Amino acid sequence: MGAACAWELSQAGFKVTVIEPHAIGGGATAAGMGHLAVMDDSEAQFALTRYSQSLWKSLAERLPPQAEYLPCGAIWVAADGEEMAEVRRKCTFYTARGTPAELLDAAALAEAEPHLRPGLAGGLLLAEDAVVYPPYAALFLIEEAKARVYAGRRVVKLSDEGPTLDDGTFLPAAHTVISTGIAARELVPELPVTPRKGHLLITDRYPGFLRHQVIELGYLKSAHSSDTDSVAFNAQPRITGQVLIGSSRQYGTENPAVEESMMDRMLRRALEYMPDIAGLSAIRTWTGFRAATPDKLPLIGICPGYKNVYLATGHEGLGISTSTGTARLLADLILNRESSIPREPYLPQRICEHADPVH
Ligand SMILES: Cc1cc2nc3c(=O)[nH]c(=O)nc-3n(C[C@H](O)[C@H](O)[C@H](O)COP(=O)(O)OP(=O)(O)OC[C@H]3O[C@@H](n4cnc5c(N)ncnc54)[C@H](O)[C@@H]3O)c2cc1C
Repeated sequence: MGAACAWELSQAGFKVTVIEPHAIGGGATAAGMGHLAVMDDSEAQFALTRYSQSLWKSLAERLPPQAEYLPCGAIWVAADGEEMAEVRRKCTFYTARGTPAELLDAAALAEAEPHLRPGLAGGLLLAEDAVVYPPYAALFLIEEAKARVYAGRRVVKLSDEGPTLDDGTFLPAAHTVISTGIAARELVPELPVTPRKGHLLITDRYPGFLRHQVIELGYLKSAHSSDTDSVAFNAQPRITGQVLIGSSRQYGTENPAVEESMMDRMLRRALEYMPDIAGLSAIRTWTGFRAATPDKLPLIGICPGYKNVYLATGHEGLGISTSTGTARLLADLILNRESSIPREPYLPQRICEHADPVH
């Protein structure tokens, strides 16, 4: 998120400084799947994901090969008739909003992804979804922004005149963007941002095994559940031929350790949809933390209590997808420009009016 903001603001003519205590793109961004998804939970979520997708598309030709941009499309898989009805509803929703969406019956689904098990009802193909390798994309954006980077330093104090770093350095700044993911609460403790743990696994190289990002429709139930641990089948083809398999969601833990029981549940779920995964060799597992908000929309706008400090956090499982749109909306706000989509649904004031930031 910080890299996208740095890039967007540099395009607008700003001199940008980035402060990063660890590796660039090494937080949730290194842990995420990098599915650039359009989603329809709400009109606001649709608007931001679709807008961001179009911005990613225009950025794509400038991305270096290492960013692994792959316009593979996504298929939401319906297991039964009930889920097929939901797929039809989604198809109507997207089509009505100018987003290419295609209904797949059982035969078309099997042809599109031959390793899915027989007997599934069908699916929805969203051809404009894509995939990227997020940490490299972040690095590229920071380099393109020609940002001055304070590596190994962290912000410990905010003010409208600029941030103060952990070595006491004060950096005068006209505008400061807090894009510290789940660590946002360290600088603004009242922010309603909660870590939501996720597990992922990546396989060895099996070129052609998977063609699209493939997600079970039940993923939405998993993403919406607010108090139970959940898993859903989600698999992604990488340009390298590797298959990235997810995913899980857990509240109430900040322990980054890979939990065998969650991994076990996640893989069993994957095998229910794609039994041939059992024949693939896994090479790495890891976890990461999504920054979740109570209403499932991000915080983009002025940080309550400040005039020149902005928030770009709370993107939960969509922060790679929506980084481009978030950065453009923030730049519009800072430059007092009209935005292509309404900014109001994401303004932090909607859920943290009484925030009392650390000055
Ligand atoms: C398992 C999993 C799968 C996911 N899959 C997808 C997906 O397919 N598609 C998608 O769009 N999204 C996905 N996401 C979500 C996505 O990864 C995140 O929303 C996104 O990476 C958030 O980016 P960020 O820049 O806000 O946070 P981060 O990447 O966490 O970056 C925050 C940075 O702030 C730095 N920082 C912390 N404190 C300070 C401080 N005091 N001063 C300065 N710097 C500080 C940190 O070191 C870190 O580098 C997934 C997430 C997970 C966990």
